[in-house]
Amino acid sequence: MNLLDSVEELNGVGPKTAETLKKAGIRTIRDFFYNLPRDYEHYASPTTIREMRPGKVVIKGKIDSLSSRHARRRNLSITEGIVRDSSGAVKVVWFNQSYRLRQFAPDKEYYFTGVYELKNGRYQITSPSAALVSDVDMDGGISPIYIAHGKLKSHGFRRLINNSRDRFNEIPDLLPGAREGARKEALFKVHFPSSVVDIGGGREYLAYEELYEYILAAKLNRKENEKLKAEKIEFDLDKTREFIGSLPFKLTNAQRLAAWEIFKDMNKETPMNRLLQGDVGSGKTMVAALAALDVVLSGRQVALLAPTAILALQHFYNLSSVLKKFGVRVALLTGATKKKSEIKKQIVNKEIDLVVGTHALLTDDTEFNDLSLVIIDEQHRFGVEQRQKLMLKSPSGLAPHLLSMTATPIPRSLQLTVFGDLDVSVLNELPAGRQPIETKIIPEIEMRSTLYPKMREITSSKPDAKKHGEKALGQQIYWICKAIESATGEVGSEITSVKTRTRKLRELFPDKCIEFLHGKMKPAEKDLIMERFSSGEIDILVSTTVVEVGVDVPNASLIIIENAESYGLAQLHQLRGRVGRGSVKAYCYLITDNDSRPSRRLLELEKSNDGFYLAEVDLKLRGPGEIYGALQHGALDLRIASFSDTKLIAKARNDVDRFLQNGKNMLEYKELMSIISKYQQLTTLN
Ligand code: ADP
Ligand code: MG
Repeated sequence: MNLLDSVEELNGVGPKTAETLKKAGIRTIRDFFYNLPRDYEHYASPTTIREMRPGKVVIKGKIDSLSSRHARRRNLSITEGIVRDSSGAVKVVWFNQSYRLRQFAPDKEYYFTGVYELKNGRYQITSPSAALVSDVDMDGGISPIYIAHGKLKSHGFRRLINNSRDRFNEIPDLLPGAREGARKEALFKVHFPSSVVDIGGGREYLAYEELYEYILAAKLNRKENEKLKAEKIEFDLDKTREFIGSLPFKLTNAQRLAAWEIFKDMNKETPMNRLLQGDVGSGKTMVAALAALDVVLSGRQVALLAPTAILALQHFYNLSSVLKKFGVRVALLTGATKKKSEIKKQIVNKEIDLVVGTHALLTDDTEFNDLSLVIIDEQHRFGVEQRQKLMLKSPSGLAPHLLSMTATPIPRSLQLTVFGDLDVSVLNELPAGRQPIETKIIPEIEMRSTLYPKMREITSSKPDAKKHGEKALGQQIYWICKAIESATGEVGSEITSVKTRTRKLRELFPDKCIEFLHGKMKPAEKDLIMERFSSGEIDILVSTTVVEVGVDVPNASLIIIENAESYGLAQLHQLRGRVGRGSVKAYCYLITDNDSRPSRRLLELEKSNDGFYLAEVDLKLRGPGEIYGALQHGALDLRIASFSDTKLIAKARNDVDRFLQNGKNMLEYKELMSIISKYQQLTTLN
């Protein structure tokens, strides 16, 4: 069996099914076998319907009287039926699952498991999961649950995998050095477990396999990067000193060290491939400025790629203001830039040294004359192709040096393991004078008593502040909302939208300038709002998470995050980092529901301002296969393995090292190499 063949090669998978599978991202036989259960239902030892007690139950019976109706007011489809066994009957109800009408055959027996409860004066089982008795009994009462993708439901996939049950035996080995047959056994156990031990064992092997692939890809990347050639950048000590002396502040030691590491890297003929990691507000942009200056002084070009137009604009202003004095010609290139073609001409003619831009930089007609350094801000926000496109813009077969910056800390435990092969500089120190951001969880009901007075205090101007050398201007506020507009008819929607919140705040604070910002606005509109906020004209900015990353308005000193429970820890920390960027005391208020207790996430955030600590916490709080916030959108997306499993990571690392030292012909491992090359594209920076 060739796992790289199309799923259509499998029994029972016709063109129509193949199409459905394809839409769910399952194209090859490998994809098919590796579409692992997301969870399991345990159907062993059912009770009779007569003996059921309220709470979680498992029953076994036939179903009839199935019907579906639409509840207009709640915009729900409700599917109901009656399950019977020899002892009695019970109503079952599903919401928005009308496919259940087609799931059951009237004469067959099914297991049902769900919560048996009193609803509207009648007992029922709400949203039970169901599986065919003949299937489940074969497997020791454990039934896998697969993620539903569009038309492909869990039970549908289960039927397909059942049809291929006897093909597992043909699955070839994958990893060099692994026990023969270990892989197919693991896959079989995960899809058809006969005990909980089976599930654990199977998953552990597959996790090991995944880590092995990932680590091998990272190591091969490093080897390949070492083969590339880059422009060697000479370091100009005097000019760099002069530049540092011209800044309005003293660089932190961490900034100096990171810059030094970058200068050393770029002074080589192999391209730099360095990740600059620094918590929010640690001053990464200044390090980027130092790197850019170094390259421009040696007569070459630099591109800085930012994930949003707002950020690009801000970098453009900040970098221009410090670099222009040193003769650096800076340009901005975003979707909203007016004379694009003129700027592009200047870039290719080398009349511009540093271009700051967004995706607009990546179009094919943006050519560089001598691009030697690419800086990517918030690198995880860019796709692989986007990053590679920029890398290809370097002339004459040379690769540019690459500096990627991220505020998403990689937990220390990870750095020592999976990332051991990446060059990382860490800004583990905040500029002097920063005070920790005071963070508070506030139930909605206390908004009036606690929050509004605080907002008034923050935004009021201080009449005699000027005398004391402070800003006369009041400080500014971000108010973060989950949605742009209020959804109507949504079930349980208690989310206040940007627009509604703006209206309410304007009523409450008629004397303040309150505006809103969200991702669906036109670029020029967004720029204008950001400019007005930066200049201090807007007092309160109600926004979606478009301001999440990088936005730097030091005069903003309070951020309010509504529906705080709906965000991940990393995202909350990022959002909070919008304030506390100057020397004034800053606050972060997390608004929660009135009646639920705050989650551990929020409590930890309230306690700590340290992004690295929070990353470790998040790693522990999250289940396997997930990693600290946004990182998972980029390179890292372990499906099975967990980054907190340091033992397994260490084993995989050792085994990969042994494989690489053996000097075996890697091409012999065709499937492994094809998987690796996919991972490599994901993890490569060059
Ligand atoms: P981030 O690492 O989150 O991208 P920025 O580069 O935006 O942080 O810097 C945050 C703020 O700190 C900016 O206003 C910047 O001008 C300022 N800053 C940077 N370095 C220093 C320093 N060494 N001392 C004081 N302020 C600094
Ligand atoms: Mg930044």
